[in-house]
Amino acid sequence: MKDDNCIFCKIANGQIPSKTIYEDDRFRVILDLGPAARGHALILPKEHFANLYELPEDWTSDAFILARKMATQMQQKLHTDGFNIVQNNGIVAGQTVFHFHIHLIPRYENDGQKIGWKPGKPTDEELAQVQREILGE
Ligand code: AMP
Ligand code: ZN
Repeated sequence: MKDDNCIFCKIANGQIPSKTIYEDDRFRVILDLGPAARGHALILPKEHFANLYELPEDWTSDAFILARKMATQMQQKLHTDGFNIVQNNGIVAGQTVFHFHIHLIPRYENDGQKIGWKPGKPTDEELAQVQREILGE
């Protein structure tokens, strides 16, 4: 299914041009227009899924296998020093385009980027409580 109002549906299906670095029957991989670092790319499914929760399992496995393949190729061709794979779901998590995508972010020494978080300091009981909630106990 495609969403007529979704820019990533249009890009993934070739209705809007993009700098494509990979394409098959399910996915297109494009260069991000606002890259965090040189070579920052996005894996876009050609069908519309808003986020990871909507993505069917077989698409999920294909998407992450492709992420590994692209990261390996980019590491060799762009001589990266490291690599971040980022996937945002929901506004609070930084998602701005509501069509599932995986960020492939090559990293270079002294690239000036900081992709991370401020570590919390939970008590053992707080960790145990979260564990119980996730396990449904
Ligand atoms: P997110 O914040 O995870 O939803 O990521 C959206 C990403 O899409 C951002 O990194 C944007 O720079 C990128 N982006 C938005 N529009 C386009 C576009 N037309 N072509 C390429 N990248 C885009
Ligand atoms: Zn879409």
